[in-house]
Amino acid sequence: MKCHVCGGNLESQVTDMPFKLSTRTIAILKDLPVLQCGRCGEYVIEDPVMEKVDALLEKVDNATELEIVRFAA
Ligand SMILES: [Zn+2]
Repeated sequence: MKCHVCGGNLESQVTDMPFKLSTRTIAILKDLPVLQCGRCGEYVIEDPVMEKVDALLEKVDNATELEIVRFAA
C-alpha cells in the first residue's frame, strides 16, 4: 500500500492517538495499529480498525474530560 500524499511506502505501526470526541472530551487510544508513511509521516487507519475505534469511542462517557482506551486487536 502506498502513501496517498507522497507515494512512499506505508509501514505497519502501533501507536497511541488522541481523538477529540466533543469540546471537552478527549480519548487516547493506546496500541492502535495504523499504517504510517516512512517518508512524510502521513498515517492511514484501515477501515476494519476504524470501525472498531468508532465502537470503542461510542462507549466513552462524554462527561469525562480524558479517557484512555486500550485498543485490543
Ligand atoms: Zn507519504
